[in-house]
Amino acid sequence: MVRYVYDFTEGGRDMAGLLGGKGSNLAEMTRLGLPVPPGFTLTTEACRAFLATGSEPAGLWGEVSAHLSALEASAGRVLGQPDDPLLLSVRSGAKFSMPGMMETILDIGLNDGSVLGLAKVSGSERFAWDSYRRLVQMFGATVMGVDSSHFEQALTLLKDLRGVEEDTHLTASDLAELVETYKNLIHLETGDRFPQSPAEQLRRAVLAVFESWNGERARLYRRREHIADDLGTAVNVQRMVFGNLGADSGSGVAFTRDPATGRRGLYGDYLPDAQGEDVVAGIRNTVPLAELRRLDAASYDRLRAHMRTLERHYRDLCDIEFTIERGTLWMLQTRVGKRTAEAAFVLAAELADEGLITPDEALARVSGEGLARLMFPRFDASATGTALARGVPASPGAAVGTVVFDSAQAVHRAAVGEKVVLVRQETTPDDLPGMIAAQAVLTSRGGKTSHAAVVARGMGKVCVCGAEELTVNTDARRFTTADGTVVEEGTVVSVDGSAGAVYPGSVPLVDSAVIRYLEDGPGDEGAQGTVDAVARALSRADTVRRLEVRANADTPEDAARARRFGAQGIGLCRTEHMFLGERRKLVEQMILAGTDAERDRALADLLPLQRRDFAGILEAMDGLPVTIRLLDPPLHEFLPDRTELAVRIATAQARGEEPDAHDVELLGAVNRMHEENPMLGLRGVRLGLVVPGLVTMQVRAIGEAVTERLLAGGAPQAEIMVPLVGDVRELRLVRAEVQRVLAETSRAAGVVLDCPVGTMIELPRAALTAGRIAEEAEFFSFGTNDLTQTTWGFSRDDVEAEFFSAYLDKGVFSTSPFETLDREGVGRLVGIAVAEGRATRPDLKIGVCGEHGGDPDSVHFFHTAGLDYVSCSPFRVPVARLEAGRAAL
Ligand code: PEP
Ligand code: MG
Repeated sequence: MVRYVYDFTEGGRDMAGLLGGKGSNLAEMTRLGLPVPPGFTLTTEACRAFLATGSEPAGLWGEVSAHLSALEASAGRVLGQPDDPLLLSVRSGAKFSMPGMMETILDIGLNDGSVLGLAKVSGSERFAWDSYRRLVQMFGATVMGVDSSHFEQALTLLKDLRGVEEDTHLTASDLAELVETYKNLIHLETGDRFPQSPAEQLRRAVLAVFESWNGERARLYRRREHIADDLGTAVNVQRMVFGNLGADSGSGVAFTRDPATGRRGLYGDYLPDAQGEDVVAGIRNTVPLAELRRLDAASYDRLRAHMRTLERHYRDLCDIEFTIERGTLWMLQTRVGKRTAEAAFVLAAELADEGLITPDEALARVSGEGLARLMFPRFDASATGTALARGVPASPGAAVGTVVFDSAQAVHRAAVGEKVVLVRQETTPDDLPGMIAAQAVLTSRGGKTSHAAVVARGMGKVCVCGAEELTVNTDARRFTTADGTVVEEGTVVSVDGSAGAVYPGSVPLVDSAVIRYLEDGPGDEGAQGTVDAVARALSRADTVRRLEVRANADTPEDAARARRFGAQGIGLCRTEHMFLGERRKLVEQMILAGTDAERDRALADLLPLQRRDFAGILEAMDGLPVTIRLLDPPLHEFLPDRTELAVRIATAQARGEEPDAHDVELLGAVNRMHEENPMLGLRGVRLGLVVPGLVTMQVRAIGEAVTERLLAGGAPQAEIMVPLVGDVRELRLVRAEVQRVLAETSRAAGVVLDCPVGTMIELPRAALTAGRIAEEAEFFSFGTNDLTQTTWGFSRDDVEAEFFSAYLDKGVFSTSPFETLDREGVGRLVGIAVAEGRATRPDLKIGVCGEHGGDPDSVHFFHTAGLDYVSCSPFRVPVARLEAGRAAL
């Protein structure tokens, strides 16, 4: 037969699924011999049965009665006994903590008779009537559905009448009067009377807690926290103890260590002469826990001893709720406490030092998400004020600067030392110099994988994108916020990329010591404990991980930084980033060339520039693999904007002037190359097959750079990667050309050039035909940005701001598939490609270089999927190292 009720002496911490977090931990404390007021737990299974059928499962009340009788026997009095009532609390407690989302009812067992008994045995009429008043109020609101504001109004009215400010100044007879008012209120509102029967109070309170699982608040919270809707809550029925019995009583909350810093030492708040609810509600000011030592040294010492016991037992930071009733300490709750990212690292290291946990357990207790938070400078949260706008928190961190509206202005102002925030409707590769010059990028359009977001993250630059309520007027050099505030160029704003918010003025910053450590090595003063703890977690992760971690980097500076951050090579060097700025002209000439000779000239001019880029990167990554991707994006991205050109020409014509001949020629080319869906158009491997000489030039530049490094005594390890392949024949054609050029370069230089040729897997067709593609590919690298885009049919540049929030709200997915890999769909394609690729070529090296390579959850997936490495932006390298280690535990 199913059992629905467990005494606290019967459960334990491993029963959280059945007894809820609170119930299982109360049982655990009871087993440890700590002073827990006795009680019992109705299981989540009872709740589920009740919610499914709308009635209590058979046998439930029989069990409750038996447990209640035992409780009464041990207390030597019965529930609601008129001369000395046993009183009970009824509290919710789900498997996962849902603070304040469900119901609690205290002082069950009081009625018109037992309140007098309580007054007598407690020696305090005021206390007895205040307890009764609380019960009628909580019961009326929670169980009987009376709007709680009615009770509050009645209380305020009475205080006004009596001319007092504080509840505590109401007398016993005031409170007795209030109880009558409350009871009348209930009758008026519901047509029903407040039940005088203690048994009925208990039963109805329990059912109300069950029902509160499906309350609106609780449901919303679960959706946000990704807690399943079908778990149900347990209900804890426990003997009441009172912290509001005078100066020798009180309630408090405490942590075994500081949850903000992780440092040793008790930490908490205490409120004399109060119930626990008063502490949480913040009605009166608490005192620091240390003050308890002065007020009641014996209880303080006992509390310390219990907390030590709990921490050693749970082998983790615990938080605690306790009550002192006339000098007797009672433990009312404990659980493994929530903590900041900093505290998580410090605590893990210290608990390992104390021998309480192993180094692997310490690693399991920290997270890449936490590390990322520690790597960015932050705003002083107390100083932010009201936000000007909110958008997608695309690249975390905090930055302050003056607003500018184009790349040139950003570069210009930054050159003279001004800190700037680049504000655009959206960014294009053209904005790169401005993005580099800026402290932060703010856009009114686009989501987490928009250009602005990807590039900013790659640079470790703060970015808020898709701030839709902003109207950006580049020509007028101002933006306007939702409430009509106009922000002109040159105004100082603060951008919080972690929260996705923009604030007026300069909010003070707090520096990241972790970044200073990663950049410069140990030796920084201040926050030494945190830095040391992070270093230890990373070192453990490096010892245990199987996945290698590479970086996505396009410049020697980024490559060098990635290496300092622990990258074991470059998994993606995007060569298009090398074609910007001054060089755009050369690309333009290449695209516009009327004859082969003209094109060859443009390519010949580009060659030495590319060679220099590659040599610099290979030098920074000497001895480690550098995967260079052949040109990927649509060529028209290198040409001027079509509308701008047309307007320029039309304006000249309207003035009766001859339009600029170059403009006319350009417009012709831009029109010729225009595509409705450029992301599905002439890009990737298709470029290599269509634009004569492009592959040849790029491969020659790579070959010559490798040669240069070899001759300089280096150990270059270039790998050549072909993007957006969908069919083995595409790769075969390009690879033949690559090998021809390498052989030619090798012959000319008299050196052996050994550059593996591989491909990106970023189209469903590539994944589905990976077995064939592996015939030509020496390695695969999953381009999960495009693979997600093409699998879901979501445009990576557009969708997020448009409808992702609706999808998130409606639970279609809980995180954007561009952020965390969609295991079910995209992940399945990855699995197929890994299996079929390796079936063809068992030693096929496989990595990932999409944004997911630095996402904690996705790193775990890639570990399980059997990849050899993940590649991500330099600033995410430490995060990926940590998570790759955690995945291997
Ligand atoms: C990808 O598509 O995942 C990828 C890494 O390539 P890009 O982002 O440059 O298209
Ligand atoms: Mg791609």
